[in-house]
Amino acid sequence: CGIIGYIGDKRAVEIVLDGLKRLEYRGYDSAGIAYFVDGRIKVVKCKGKIKNLEQLLEHENHQVLNSNQKPFVAIGHTRWATHGKPSDVNAHPHCSGGIALVHNGIIENYSELKRELMQEGFKFTSETDTEVIAHLINKYRADLSLEEAVREAVKRLRGSYAVVVIDEKEPDKIIGVRMESPLVVGVMDDEKFIASDVPAFLNHCNRVIFLDDGEIIVLRKDDFKIFDLQGKEKKKKPQTITWTA
Ligand code: GLU
Repeated sequence: CGIIGYIGDKRAVEIVLDGLKRLEYRGYDSAGIAYFVDGRIKVVKCKGKIKNLEQLLEHENHQVLNSNQKPFVAIGHTRWATHGKPSDVNAHPHCSGGIALVHNGIIENYSELKRELMQEGFKFTSETDTEVIAHLINKYRADLSLEEAVREAVKRLRGSYAVVVIDEKEPDKIIGVRMESPLVVGVMDDEKFIASDVPAFLNHCNRVIFLDDGEIIVLRKDDFKIFDLQGKEKKKKPQTITWTA
């Protein structure tokens, strides 16, 4: 029920964890985070409170501190289960072939997509509707860039979604896309935020772009590009938020 992502030179895991706490008011039953360690995506997630996630992360933290890789990238999620019980495996992020993503919303046609993907050999590890999105992107990823694969994947979805994706093959970017679920981007010169709601990052950044339905954003540390579902670039300027959280 909450999403926050960060790309920049600050401690991404800490920023994302703090953002998740700021989204706690939306309600949730599980929480999780994905981040890069030496070029590989590491996922830490669990049922229950963000405190539990924080404890699991403390155990991992030396890896984050030892990583020299910049920019730092992390995405986080608080889940309000709609498909599949609250559990560690059903918590987001969900992965497929080096891709990790978080999702708010409901994929209405997930069972037909799941059937198709299973016939093609994709292995499902959760009971969520969300996992089909990860496998779909992985499937299209074979011949396409990450943003093109995301675009082809979301064309197959019916329902509501805010999705935020990272990929080991393209570790310098975060992709976000939405349909009938909120997604807002925070724009600083050399760092970017993406979240389901402004308070998640307002303490770091007050220049924001509200994404509209059918928009895909490609975030790099020092740059962003917005596309429609046909792949045509759209120009949007950040607006300044004057209220405080
Ligand atoms: N439908 C997804 C699930 O049950 C996402 C729920 C949410 O928005 O948190 O895992």
